[in-house]
Amino acid sequence: MTTTSPAWYRSAVLIGGRWRDCPDTVDVENPATGEIIGRAAVATEADAADAVAAAQSAGALWGRSTAAQRGTALAGLAQRLRERRADLVAATVAEVGAPVTVAEEAHIDLAIAIIDAFARLAAETPLHEKVGNSTLARRPAGVIACITPWNYPVYQLAAKVGAALAAGCTVVVKPPEITPLGTYLFCDAVQETDLPAGAVNLVPGRGSVLGPALIAHPGVDVVSFTGSTAVGRQVGAQAGALIKRACLELGGKSASVVLDDADLPTAVRATVASAMLNTGQTCSAWTRLLVPRDRYDEAVAVAAEAADALRPGDPAERTTDLGPLVSKAQLDAVRTMVDEAVARGARVAAGGTAPVEGFPGGHYHRATVLADVERGDPITREEVFGPVLVVEAHDGDDDAVELANATEYGLAGAVWSADVARAESVALRIDTGQVDINGAEFNVHAPFGGWKTSGLGRELGRAGLDECVEWTAVQS
Ligand code: NAD
Repeated sequence: MTTTSPAWYRSAVLIGGRWRDCPDTVDVENPATGEIIGRAAVATEADAADAVAAAQSAGALWGRSTAAQRGTALAGLAQRLRERRADLVAATVAEVGAPVTVAEEAHIDLAIAIIDAFARLAAETPLHEKVGNSTLARRPAGVIACITPWNYPVYQLAAKVGAALAAGCTVVVKPPEITPLGTYLFCDAVQETDLPAGAVNLVPGRGSVLGPALIAHPGVDVVSFTGSTAVGRQVGAQAGALIKRACLELGGKSASVVLDDADLPTAVRATVASAMLNTGQTCSAWTRLLVPRDRYDEAVAVAAEAADALRPGDPAERTTDLGPLVSKAQLDAVRTMVDEAVARGARVAAGGTAPVEGFPGGHYHRATVLADVERGDPITREEVFGPVLVVEAHDGDDDAVELANATEYGLAGAVWSADVARAESVALRIDTGQVDINGAEFNVHAPFGGWKTSGLGRELGRAGLDECVEWTAVQS
């Protein structure tokens, strides 16, 4: 069922605490139906420049705030977001197509937990530390340009804005073109807090126009970008030429490594759940399943059964496991990658590219498991960003590590074993930013980010806060 709300029809940018109307707007589509459910402003480069100036002027005040003031303001923001939880969830269901249970837990509750975590961290993080004869001052880096992707728009925003405000910085937010509504609602919540006007500014619009304009602006001190590796390269190159810090959170192709003493069915089912979460549009999803060669057929069968059991449906329904992909373009890209893998010899153990019946106008793709691919096949190395898991065989721990590392990415991963010490030792040989042992929980305090082409820098926790800090060491 299509839902919409007057709060989803927006035509303004937020600059210096005031909403300012833009002549140009863009429609927002519900990917489950193709219907228009909202609208967002298309800001200009001049709007972006005004937003940076507003952030600079708010920074003059916020940059001098105490740790306690930062903690209190962020706790207030978390509370305002909690009050708007139902609206944030509804917008996420409608614009991303995330099933409502996923929108609640993985998008909105996690975003609120992150702001809560930064509230505590802001209050606890010393602005000055003594090291020998030095006083180390953590000083706000200044204005952070926050550029976010469409797959987890509110979560990504929380990670960036939480870290920046905790460090005493101010921000200009450039949300994704196709899923801007949750960001508007987040900014409505900001407007109800005691943060100084201009601490958070919002300029929705075209990334190819606003991104380069923000990065080039002399008033922007740090660029915090989450998105594709292709655009991340451009952002990094532009920022690098200006000697401007760029934190890049990019793509992934993470392996779930099942060792020979693991509970294989549990590991396989959890890996399918990770690969298909948010319809596979999760940067840290485990999209490769590496299993002992002598249990390969069993693993493929369990994975196929788990994938087939996922129910596609209206994302607003609690019984839905699998929503649509975010756009027709994304659906076409995923289909092409699956068809190409099959043309190279991959066996479709579940799913495939045949249309999902019953959702006219929706961008649905079947939960797909691919088997019997050649070692090193592109489908084992390249990010698909859709509900597609590839199963590969390994010949022991050393081989599993070599296989897991045989990709240009290094964002996340998993290791499964009855022996946690053995699993930890394998985990520490995988060149990746996060590894979960036996399905351990996500930790909002742990640094999140990538090795290799998965990015530069870290979000979340003290490491995330320190991406927004400049240090001055004073010796006496
Ligand atoms: P994208 O790179 O197309 O866009 C990301 C953002 O960059 C958007 O806001 C876009 O408008 C903007 N943009 C476009 N051109 C730009 C330019 N030249 N300069 C600056 N900004 C520009 O990515 P997407 O398709 O929105 O998101 C999907 C990608 O994001 C996937 O590859 C996924 O793995 C990645 N991702 C990574 C993480 C992580 O933490 N590592 C998290 C979520 C998503």
